[in-house]
Amino acid sequence: MSLKTVENFDFKGKRALIRVDFNVPLDKQFNITDDSRIKGALPTIRKILKDGGSVVLMSHLGRPLKKLKEDGTVDYNKHSLKHLVQRTSDLLGVPVQFADDCISDKAFAMSSALKPGEVLLLENLRFYKEEEKGDAAFAEKLSKHGDVYVNDAFGTAHRAHASTTIVANYYTEANKMFGYLMADEVRNADKVLRSAEKPFTAILGGAKVSDKILIIENLLDRANNILIGGGMAYTFFKAMGGKIGNSLVEDDKLELALQLIEKAQQKGVQLLLPIDSIIADKFDAAANTATSDSNHIPDGWMGLDIANNAIYDFSQVILNSKTILWNGPMGVFEMDKFQQGTKAIAEAVANATQKGAFSLVGGGDSVAAVHKFNLADKVSYVSTGGGAMLEYFEGKELPGIKAIMSPAQPKA
Ligand code: AMP
Repeated sequence: MSLKTVENFDFKGKRALIRVDFNVPLDKQFNITDDSRIKGALPTIRKILKDGGSVVLMSHLGRPLKKLKEDGTVDYNKHSLKHLVQRTSDLLGVPVQFADDCISDKAFAMSSALKPGEVLLLENLRFYKEEEKGDAAFAEKLSKHGDVYVNDAFGTAHRAHASTTIVANYYTEANKMFGYLMADEVRNADKVLRSAEKPFTAILGGAKVSDKILIIENLLDRANNILIGGGMAYTFFKAMGGKIGNSLVEDDKLELALQLIEKAQQKGVQLLLPIDSIIADKFDAAANTATSDSNHIPDGWMGLDIANNAIYDFSQVILNSKTILWNGPMGVFEMDKFQQGTKAIAEAVANATQKGAFSLVGGGDSVAAVHKFNLADKVSYVSTGGGAMLEYFEGKELPGIKAIMSPAQPKA
């Protein structure tokens, strides 16, 4: 898929409306505790300014209309993007102006007065319910902030919100495109999904099978090996008649687990489960632990990590792979006693990458795991996409991507 990006567009004299993902964590004093999302958007902003364009930034922050104050009112201060102005200015090296409402007359006056090289940040889009509803009139208003629309917020690309998708309808094909960050996410995901060099191994973990069913099904048509770890493995063991003690299980997914095993056999995909587990007598960092076959876990005990034989099996497959996708931890890696499996798999992925494999780590907790074990720069790509990346791997067409790929629809 060839992507239209900011790279080959000349922004001289243009005003670009960029949908960024500035949904950063703030502490109680509204200090930014992790600014990587702001840093991620800088290359796109800089390119536009360097060309001689101006920039209007729009984003959401939290869920202001859903997370209300105790008295039932909206906490405008807590969710204000004004807390990001200083840091964005400092990182960019350009003073950032702020409009305290994203569609007020004042906001439009400010955006239309921007000169080349200037940057304006709009207040939280989600102060308007129309944003998440994908309201066309709201999107059309937003579109008045820029001659060109740039989407650099991959993390919200799976939502057909006004600023992520609908707004694109108000731009011609030539005037809407991806920012660098979003293009990178799509290119890397496509490398795995559409042009994976074989053998292609998917490593799936985490708590629940139900969250990963669609990914497993989609990967059954693409991967050579699917390695299943984490809490979800025990639903498979129970489905095959194993004893799993008190391990995590989804009893309504037993039948489905058997179907997935059968489908894998039919399609010639090797679906590997962790042969042994680190078991614990309670879900606690200070629990007693032992090693057990994963299908003979005693009553009262639960599997909380994969053990040595499973680590060996999985690592062998990983080291022989040319493409690796990893989503979900192998155990309760947040507790030191149960982090060994996830750490060993992260190391195997790093080693395979060093040997020339392409590796993509995507989706919340496995991303946290590679950071925890300081291996983020030893894999080929760490996605920041979260839910959007998961839906992409489920084979879904993301509305935020489609909106840029397809020609403008007639205005309502
Ligand atoms: P997910 O969001 O589905 O990727 O799940 C991530 C969570 O699964 C992490 O918080 C892990 O602690 C948890 N997890 C992984 N393995 C297990 C397990 N064997 N039992 C219970 N929870 C687990």
